[in-house]
Amino acid sequence: MRIVVQKYGGTSVADASRLRNVARRVIQAHEAGFAPVVVVSAQGDTTDILLQKAYEISPHPSARELDMLLSTGEQISIALLAMAIEAQGYAVISLTGGQVGIRTDGTHTKAKIVGIDTRRILRELGTGRIVIVAGFQGVNQEEDITTLGRGGSDTSAVALAAILAAETCEIYTDVDGVYSADPRIVPGARKLTAISYDEMLELASLGARVLHLRSVEIAKKYGVPIHVRSSFSESPGTMVVEEVKDMENAPVVTGIAHTTDVAKVTVMGVPDRPGVAASLFAALAGRAVNVDMIIQSASRAGINDISFTLAKADMEAAVEAARELEQQLGAEGVVAESGVGKVSIVGAGMISHPGVAAAMFRVIADEGVNIQMISTSDISISCVIEAPFVEKVVRALHKVFIET
Ligand code: ASP
Ligand code: MG
Repeated sequence: MRIVVQKYGGTSVADASRLRNVARRVIQAHEAGFAPVVVVSAQGDTTDILLQKAYEISPHPSARELDMLLSTGEQISIALLAMAIEAQGYAVISLTGGQVGIRTDGTHTKAKIVGIDTRRILRELGTGRIVIVAGFQGVNQEEDITTLGRGGSDTSAVALAAILAAETCEIYTDVDGVYSADPRIVPGARKLTAISYDEMLELASLGARVLHLRSVEIAKKYGVPIHVRSSFSESPGTMVVEEVKDMENAPVVTGIAHTTDVAKVTVMGVPDRPGVAASLFAALAGRAVNVDMIIQSASRAGINDISFTLAKADMEAAVEAARELEQQLGAEGVVAESGVGKVSIVGAGMISHPGVAAAMFRVIADEGVNIQMISTSDISISCVIEAPFVEKVVRALHKVFIET
């Protein structure tokens, strides 16, 4: 059986005519001799609307009930898509995450997939049916519905492609591939024909929104090639693969990512002794807060400041956790700031090219923008700056590193 996994995002299934378009593409794959497993997201901004409904009812809905609610968006999509395919006379079945055996851990609203029992899916495919799967969801040990975090349908798709050893995993979206920068901000942004897992991981974790970060992690771990492309055109998109050929000639900077979904928290005046960072970050981890950059200032008179960045949504939880520890750590206070953003340059070529950081800082300085925090990896450099300057800095970096 030649299994192909296709995933269609919210815009691709937003209304009846788009669903029919998706049905047509799925049937095409079926007619070409493939066994299609199709993962879909909720229609349009359904998930946001569901969230709004939740917060209209309660300021602090429990994560379990949020999952119960949010998972319904995808359930609408699978039923409608199955009907659209049925209407064309093809055998098809829609299945929820639980029904296809997607097991997750118990962390509601950001659950991780722990395993997939493929028996049902293989049985359905074996009878010649097209299988439509609700993305973004699974079930935990109690059989309670969990969701995988915003954008999680990509992760459902890649995980299925990995376990089913699918020939390809196509992620259909409203853009026609992965770009060198967000084309809405940088008019000269270029579509990349291919990008490595490592570069894509960096871009995704640094704010590029094309693919859910964890989907790329799974793709890398299991060697699943991902084809990111548009559901509205036939043209090829971007291949996400282990290694891009001709890397020697690849540009030093492949892409520029940015995000304004950043908050900065500083724990001030903590004593410089062993165990302080350990207990602070253990407390954050205990609340499932994902910390991004961490900076500890050089100790002066036995006292440090520890600053870290994180997603805005986690700021409240982080501040609470830090304040709870304030006394125990002997800290002087906790301050939080949400008006910051992060700009990053990413490229595998950086490893062998010195001076990239200096060039980046120069571009930012020439824009008259102050850098608040810096972090680097082998293949990326990120700067935290004031949020209102993010877009102009992205454009300036793109001009220098990619357009020339
Ligand atoms: N519908 C979910 C969301 O909006 C999952 C997804 O689209 O991948 O985050
Ligand atoms: Mg998405």
